[in-house]
Amino acid sequence: MCGIQRGGPRCCWSLFTMTWSSFVPLLPLFQATNEVVSRVPKATHTEMLAAVDSCSRAYASWSDTSILTRQQIFLRYQQLIKENIKELARLITLEQGKTLADAEGDVFRGLQVAEHACSITSLMMGETLPSITKDMDTYTYRLPIGVCAGIAPFNFPAMIPLWMFPMGMVCGNTYLMKPSERVPGCTMLLAKLLQDAGLPDGTLNIIHGQHAAVNFICDHPAIKAISFVGSNQAGEYIYERGSKNGKRVQSNMGAKNHGVVMPDANKENTLNQLVGAAFGAAGQRCMALSTAILVGEARDWLPELVERSKALRVNAGDQPGADVGPLISPEARARVEMLIQSGVDEGATLLLDGRNVHVKGYENGNFVGPTIIGNVSPAMKCYTEEIFGPVLVVLEADTLDDAISLVNNNQYGNGTAIFTTNGATARKYTHEVDVGQIGVNVPIPVPLPMFSFTGSRGSFRGDTNFYGKQGIQFYTQIKTVTSQWKAEDATTKAAAVTMPTMR
Ligand code: NAD
Repeated sequence: MCGIQRGGPRCCWSLFTMTWSSFVPLLPLFQATNEVVSRVPKATHTEMLAAVDSCSRAYASWSDTSILTRQQIFLRYQQLIKENIKELARLITLEQGKTLADAEGDVFRGLQVAEHACSITSLMMGETLPSITKDMDTYTYRLPIGVCAGIAPFNFPAMIPLWMFPMGMVCGNTYLMKPSERVPGCTMLLAKLLQDAGLPDGTLNIIHGQHAAVNFICDHPAIKAISFVGSNQAGEYIYERGSKNGKRVQSNMGAKNHGVVMPDANKENTLNQLVGAAFGAAGQRCMALSTAILVGEARDWLPELVERSKALRVNAGDQPGADVGPLISPEARARVEMLIQSGVDEGATLLLDGRNVHVKGYENGNFVGPTIIGNVSPAMKCYTEEIFGPVLVVLEADTLDDAISLVNNNQYGNGTAIFTTNGATARKYTHEVDVGQIGVNVPIPVPLPMFSFTGSRGSFRGDTNFYGKQGIQFYTQIKTVTSQWKAEDATTKAAAVTMPTMR
């Protein structure tokens, strides 16, 4: 029936220096049936302390390892990820529910960051300025900062952990990783592959848990930096608590991404892009286009948008031909359905209703089918809240300026896209819209890792973003050396006692 093993408990253990003294399990589920598929040990306080101690002890030697050695490990690592992409995707579909094809995409986008980490020999270079005065040079080194920690969400079980520990570790830091308690299996296999690539014991430790584990990470003095991705509720809390404790924190959070459709857009392409970006991964992507703004005559395209969305097949992620898988939990499904109803209650028009979708053979799954809510206004709850499900809310605007003002008045700044064939329209939009990542005829403009993931405003807290040059800045500190080697030093007769004047 399907290629995924499920139904029986399967244990995941920490692969590095941890031994678990107690076993209070967390129970990830197969979201299409809500069956338990694995058990992972929830770390006790003593075990979390042991994990950080292990990272601290390993730091001395790992940070001193040559950069070429670290690069070689990550070169082997990216190859092992490629060789295991099917198995990683299988684990993602098993625990998270997304379709197998989408799960492979999840691994692939993370793999690109692991590949990027292999450029560390260029990325970590410092700067030099010779002869700032006579016989005096200044140069900088980028150095690791110590033990770093990552806290990940459920929706990208491979990509987001791979935004975190490869970048942190290739810089010479050791790493404590806390995957989402809902999807721990993929991180465990990613860690095992890194061990197989030659990573020394103790340099990467994994703890499983929820709030207690998060508080532990925010408070432990040995942890110098926290990378967080997830909801605003958790991200703002972690940013504040971690920062108060003197740590660097980068916090990528929630979103409401608008797709602005101009009447001059390529209709065929635009409608397909909108449908894919709104409903792919059941809308559980931080860069999903969850809001469409139809400008002027583009309003007339709405019936066709609905027809195309109806054609998507809702099914378990491991079933052939599935387009839309289940949501992560019964609670997530109930919340999405509540937000759809709130739109109806507030006067919006339900153009396509995915509630009560029937998926044969998976009657207990957390399914919601593609849903489109029209006539939405900015004060409605279905607009102000991130829905994080397969729901597209549609607003209308008379002009591009009206559309820009709607987007800029929304609290989030993660991503947006404009669909147009007019370069001047696209340029105006990209210049005037206050959002960190913009696509022009590109619905989900997640930057490749040579750039950084630059969500802004309510979608981000911190100073430096994930991966790219900013990722390296986040995981390193700078040491600046000013040295003077006097030309005549061999014959220096007296010490200089005056302040150098830099002349
Ligand atoms: P979440 O905030 O519930 O969980 C993320 C992590 O925080 C998990 O490891 C979890 O154990 C922990 N956590 C959860 N609630 C907590 C709390 N109250 N206090 C402390 N820790 C807590 O997020 P999620 O449901 O796993 O993921 C979905 C969210 O993540 C969406 O809001 C989505 O937009 C966001 N997201 C953002 C990006 C981005 O790059 N901006 C990427 C992916 C997902």
